[in-house]
This record gives sequence, structure tokens and C-alpha cells, in this order.
Amino acid sequence: CGIVGVIGREDASTVLLHGLSKLEYRGYDSAGLYVNGAGQDYLVKRVGRIQALKDAVGPEVQGTMGIGHTRWATNGEPTVANAHPHQSQDGRFYLVHNGVITNAAKLKQTYLQNVTLASQTDTEVVVQLIALFAQEGLSAKAALRKTLSLLEGSYAFALADRTAPDILYAAKKQSPLLVGLGNGFNVIASDAMAMIDQTHQFLELNDGELVTLTAQAVTIEDAAGTPVKRDPITIELDA
Ligand code: GLU
Repeated sequence: CGIVGVIGREDASTVLLHGLSKLEYRGYDSAGLYVNGAGQDYLVKRVGRIQALKDAVGPEVQGTMGIGHTRWATNGEPTVANAHPHQSQDGRFYLVHNGVITNAAKLKQTYLQNVTLASQTDTEVVVQLIALFAQEGLSAKAALRKTLSLLEGSYAFALADRTAPDILYAAKKQSPLLVGLGNGFNVIASDAMAMIDQTHQFLELNDGELVTLTAQAVTIEDAAGTPVKRDPITIELDA
């Protein structure tokens, strides 16, 4: 029901858990995060309260980039297997998703006959498609773009590539998503509230846009791959 992402922070887990706590008001049944840094990565998921996830994230769970999720189940029961982030079968990609992909069953049938899914979610179909297209030779970004072109329904996505921990991808259609601009880091969130303690500078996104974030830069492209220029807005905390 909400997503967060960060790149370029030594304390990525802390930033994500804080952001997820701020998204709690949106309602959720489970939560999870993926972080990567210094050659180590971690995937932690729990059913129930954010506190249960916080308790499960030990001091070893450190990273410089990561993605997090609070889930409100639409496809599949609230279980650890159905909680996000979802992982591709080859272990390369990790995806969080807010929204519903309405043609997931059809896409599974068309493209993923040989893939055994680990969950009942629409979201896992998406991450397996990205991995499939990457295996066929596309770059991570091109694989994401091709996948987006096949999807029906709504999404805010954040995608991590285990082999490229200095890049984070995001995309949206009919689900909220904002980019937050930091000094030497960048973030994304479903709601500015989740990242207001990190920055007040945000970029609004339009449906169909694909965002590439590094610690130093944010690039936005439209669905055709044409770069888009966007001025930041300042969001202050309301009392
Ligand atoms: N459709 C996805 C699921 O059921 C995401 C739901 C959400 O937005 O939390 O897992």
C-alpha cells in the first residue's frame, strides 16, 4: 500500500524503516525491505506490524541502497511469501509495488510458462518478466521499460538490481509516487510524509514516466524514453 526507496545513504535500512512507519496510516497487512551495500544484500519480510519488521532487521542489515513496502493485499493472502519485495527467480531483481496489475494471469501464461512462482501476487509476475527480458539480453532499464509496456492496471514500482547497487529504478501509473532530492542521496516514496525527515525538495511524476536514481542524479524519461525536465517543488511539514 506504500513504497519507499533510497540510494546513497550509509543508513539505508534506518531511512526505509522510518519511511515505512510514516506510511503506516495508509493501512497494511505486511511489510518488507531489501537493502544492498558493500557486497552484501538482505531481504526481510514480516506479516503484521512495522514493529515486527523492525524487530527482524538486525544490526547486520546495512546497505547504501534499498527499497521497502507496506502491503495491502489485493492478489494473494497476507503471508511472508506474498509480502514484498518480490525477487526474480534468478536472484537478480527485487521489486516493490503499490497497485494492481489486472492482466498478471495472462502475462504469466504468455511469458512465464517455465517459471515457478514463489507467491500468488500480481507483483511477482512483473519482476519475473523483467528478469526474463534481461536474460534475453536487454539492459535492466530496457527490460523494465518493455515490461511496463505490457502492463494493465495501476502501479508505483521501485526496482533494485542486485548486480548494480549504485542504481535504483522507479515508475508509476495511477498510483502515487514522488522523488525526494537529497545532498549526495536520493529517495522515492508514495507520500512525501515518508521522506520529509530526509528532504523537503521533491519531484512530482506523471503516469508512464520511468525514473533512474543514483546517489548524485535523478533522470526522468517518458514512456517513449525521451528525457523529461522537471523542476523540484518544496514541501514543508504541516503542523
Ligand atoms: N497488488 C499487490 C499485492 O497484492 C500490491 C498491493 C499493494 O498496493 O500493497 O501484493
